[in-house]
Amino acid sequence: MKIIDVLNNGKMTISFEVFPPKKETSLDNVKAATEEIAKLSPAFMSVTYGAGGGTSEFTIDIAKNIKDKYDVPMLAHLTCVSSDHETVQQRIADMKAAGIENVMALRGDLTPELEATDRTRWAYHHASELVRELRESGNDFCIGAACYPEVHPESANQKDDIKYLKEKVEAGVDFLTTQMIFDNSLFLGFMYKLRESGIDVPVLPGIMPITNANQVARAIKLSGAYMPQRFRSLVDMFGEDPAAMTQAGIAYATDQIIDLYANGITNVHIYSMNKPEVAKGIINNLSNILGKEFDWR
Ligand code: FAD
Repeated sequence: MKIIDVLNNGKMTISFEVFPPKKETSLDNVKAATEEIAKLSPAFMSVTYGAGGGTSEFTIDIAKNIKDKYDVPMLAHLTCVSSDHETVQQRIADMKAAGIENVMALRGDLTPELEATDRTRWAYHHASELVRELRESGNDFCIGAACYPEVHPESANQKDDIKYLKEKVEAGVDFLTTQMIFDNSLFLGFMYKLRESGIDVPVLPGIMPITNANQVARAIKLSGAYMPQRFRSLVDMFGEDPAAMTQAGIAYATDQIIDLYANGITNVHIYSMNKPEVAKGIINNLSNILGKEFDWR
């Protein structure tokens, strides 16, 4: 099933992101965790490609496992900047063979090793090139892409960032998912600017439930996201008590999601980090809100 059809049906949805393991020895554990999340019947699940400490070789395997067993629409991430065209074409063929209908087209981060090489020899420089290649591959993929309410760290300013985002969308993107946000007002202001610029595809805010104090520094480093004082106080108070921090982190994320729904944002994506207990906590907190709406199919 195509994710864009789920997003366009007007119902409130929740989707969850998982990531592949670093080593094959952990693959069974990761599959078990992702299956627990799939049992919650999210609108879709996404599997990252080498981000969050995982490697890319298991992305399609994990996505296919969930799709085949739980009939949850799956979004397989794919990055391009450290690849050549042959590798990307092979991944596209692998996704097609696995029955994956939805692809998240990303550039990938610039590692110091990559930056030390000659840019003119790179096969890809921006995600928009991958979007175009996916569109031209003759496969009828539903294509997602990333966007940044607080501006991508390499961009000089938001105006340029949105200009390039528009080019990426026009290359064939069906929907966008944001970098994690902890302050909804930044997302709502960003949405206003996107719509004003003529970008009209669905945009899913990305919510990261922080359930462990150690995640905070990592999340800031990874995303550069602004953390409101209300959130910092919560980490100060509960950070050393894992059970309390989990409860507080789930509550904070739930509050953000409810506020987004209340502001008319119907589709919210959760960076659930392979933690079924976090996904369950959020779904339980929203049970009456999602209620009948939760039958997203
Ligand atoms: P792009 O859209 O190419 O943008 C990158 C930068 O280039 C921006 O500053 C943009 O403004 C600029 N730019 C774009 N086009 C042009 C142009 N024509 N000329 C000049 N500048 C231009 N990483 C992974 O490795 N694996 C994952 O699975 C993964 N999943 C992600 C999911 C989400 C929702 C998000 C938000 C990020 C994810 N990332 C992942 C991280 C992502 O790869 C990095 O943020 C990366 O630095 C940028 O990727 P992009 O696709 O947004 O790139």
